[in-house]
Amino acid sequence: MAPSSPIFRFAPSPNGRLHLGHAYSALLNQRLAARFAGELLLRIEDIDLTRCRPEFEQGIRDDLAWLGVSFAPAVRRQSQHFDDYRRALDRLEAMGLVYPCFCSRQQVKEAVGRCEAEGGIPWQRDPDGVPLYPGTCRGLDEAEARRRREAGEAHVLRLAMDRALARVAGESLAYRLFDEAGEECEIAVDPARWGDVVLARKDVPTSYHLSVVIDDALQGVSHVVRGEDIEAATEIHVLLQCLLDLPTPRYHFHRLLGDETGQKLAKSRLSRSLADLRADGATPEAIRRQLGFT
Ligand code: GLU
Repeated sequence: MAPSSPIFRFAPSPNGRLHLGHAYSALLNQRLAARFAGELLLRIEDIDLTRCRPEFEQGIRDDLAWLGVSFAPAVRRQSQHFDDYRRALDRLEAMGLVYPCFCSRQQVKEAVGRCEAEGGIPWQRDPDGVPLYPGTCRGLDEAEARRRREAGEAHVLRLAMDRALARVAGESLAYRLFDEAGEECEIAVDPARWGDVVLARKDVPTSYHLSVVIDDALQGVSHVVRGEDIEAATEIHVLLQCLLDLPTPRYHFHRLLGDETGQKLAKSRLSRSLADLRADGATPEAIRRQLGFT
């Protein structure tokens, strides 16, 4: 059988317009897909039904076309695939690796505060600096949890990290990291650092972690090129791939662009969008040159 060609993807969330950081990521995906004779897919990560909007998706497509980044025709929109994520959750639940958590954010915060007061030391944080879930609902009686779910009480679904790790004990949890020249090395991961992560949010039957893993597998993605802000979370993705018998793509993490003050560009801080730059007369060539893609 002929080896299949590499598949890359660019996966923006349509909750705002793209800024220069997204342009860098899209252009780097395009460059590496071309260098490795691969294909580039577009995936719209719109599971956040309150913040994502069709007009932002159109804006993203317009910006990418303007910039000269083109994609294979089939676009995957996550909000159209909730059944795929639900099936994966059902599998994990059947393995006994998922439990419902009825805590509100405020209750989690208070529980962490109590743990810190009792222990006299700061409660453990995940690699993003967020306190680990203190496990309030982990030991809920099964019948009680079922009753509350059936009564429609709002809840998230969490991965029972200790049981998940026990399930994959003995398997190698690692991924291949590749650089722009195609050199690779193996990176071992330690997902325990994340604690009982949320796999399904209150409003949708999935989370970023679950959908990204399912989609990369269903789209046959072999090479993931994304920002270094998601490097640590890749540990969770490798664990989920192992639990669900999915292949682990190769990964490359790129630097994040900063603004004049050195702050990371972010939609939430209203960093100037490509649309703003374009309205001010910037050309795609000038942006590509500025980002090092001549
Ligand atoms: N949707 C994510 C973002 O806009 C990218 C996720 C990924 O590349 O895995 O930052």
